[in-house]
Amino acid sequence: MTTRTRFAPSPTGYLHIGGARTALYSWLHARKHGGTFILRIEDTDRERSTEESVNAILEGMTWLGLEYDEGPFYQTHRFERYKELVQKLLAEGKAYHCYCSKDELENMREQQMANKEKPRYDGRCRDLKQAPAGVEPVIRFRNPTEGSVVVKDLIRGKVVFKNEELDDLIIARSDGTPTYNFTVVVDDLDMKVDCVIRGDDHLNNTPRQINILKALGAEPPQYAHVPMILGSDGKRLSKRHGAVSVMQYREEGFLPEALLNYLVRLGWSHGDQEIFSIEELIEKFDINNVNKAASSFNDEKLLWLNQQYIKNGDPVHIAHHLSWHLGNLGIDPSTGPDIIKVIPHLQERAKTLVEMAQNCVYFYRNTVVYDEAAAAKHLTADVDGPLEDLRDSLAELNTWDKEAIHDAITGTAEAHELKLGKLAQPLRVALTGNTISPPIDATVYLMGQEVTLKRIDDALRYIEENAG
Ligand code: GLU
Repeated sequence: MTTRTRFAPSPTGYLHIGGARTALYSWLHARKHGGTFILRIEDTDRERSTEESVNAILEGMTWLGLEYDEGPFYQTHRFERYKELVQKLLAEGKAYHCYCSKDELENMREQQMANKEKPRYDGRCRDLKQAPAGVEPVIRFRNPTEGSVVVKDLIRGKVVFKNEELDDLIIARSDGTPTYNFTVVVDDLDMKVDCVIRGDDHLNNTPRQINILKALGAEPPQYAHVPMILGSDGKRLSKRHGAVSVMQYREEGFLPEALLNYLVRLGWSHGDQEIFSIEELIEKFDINNVNKAASSFNDEKLLWLNQQYIKNGDPVHIAHHLSWHLGNLGIDPSTGPDIIKVIPHLQERAKTLVEMAQNCVYFYRNTVVYDEAAAAKHLTADVDGPLEDLRDSLAELNTWDKEAIHDAITGTAEAHELKLGKLAQPLRVALTGNTISPPIDATVYLMGQEVTLKRIDDALRYIEENAG
């Protein structure tokens, strides 16, 4: 049998960093073994689950490229099946009705606390002969009272829970709806999940789930409980630490593969290799080698990785993601030079795609907005003549290539006995509004002849009006 893993988020918020890493580990485990990755939406908490959140989770998974082979399955579509199995357990005496009222349970708790015992349901309805009239009962699982459950966790190793510590869990509420631990068990069983990879906040649920699975006549799957992610202050990662939503990282200009690479390394390593292609991850990732200890999130490291991916990425791929950021700035990249040709000139200098987009807006805007200081320093009366001559030389070019452009610029500078920079910087400000851009020949080339000439004309007019 090939392996089957699942990611089972509760749609009560966006896809956060911790969830994304759990999904990634499940996905990698499935891909590595040629198995199946399932997406299951655990939406039985109807008050907290929202459609918006389902969409946010799907959007996050898509952006990360964690494509699922089956699903999304929604638990709210499976109520009939849960009911069927609750009835089966009842019929077999493996579950029973419990009529205890809230008050009764509260009293039980108080008594136990007073006796310094651990509060737990004491099983008083287990063997009721007669049902009290007029009470809608809940249904409890008849947990074994002796022995222990051994969880052979792939990350944690062996974890033993004594059955006497586990009380009889409610599996269906008085309105008939199933409870969380029961739905998970039924789904993992029906979906033939053989390796459950999830956050270690669920470890305490595992012995209960194993007992229920056994009562249903099933073999428990393997489990791997992934340790949590901490913020830089050692506390559990939360909004206080900044971005925790996957899509927030998109907004901030991260490439999905950089985030994936960062997430996989948070808790797993392969020698001291830092950068992995997806193919390498599929080959090298091993759930058995995930650390037991929690890991701390490090923004600097993520930024460094993003920079590496930007620097070395295929411009076609980067263009795909950069276009989204340009769109956010109100720019349609088809209105200017081919973005795929522009990108190689920007890759060295951007840590994020937000920076990269900002570094190339001038190619795509109709008008140039001059930075005040740059214009004051470089669009001065003394460059009026040289700029005008340069305009004429560029206008005369029949072939628009970098060499011809280079010759026109250096020729004009020489004729006016100017150092190259003294002409190149005013030209750069004229074309981009600022003093930073790719090498000037490349900037002029990418801008195209028509736009270049128009922008030099605009700069000449500006000089006349402001500095003449
Ligand atoms: N729905 C649970 C959560 O979002 C996950 C349950 C599981 O993976 O078993 O935390």
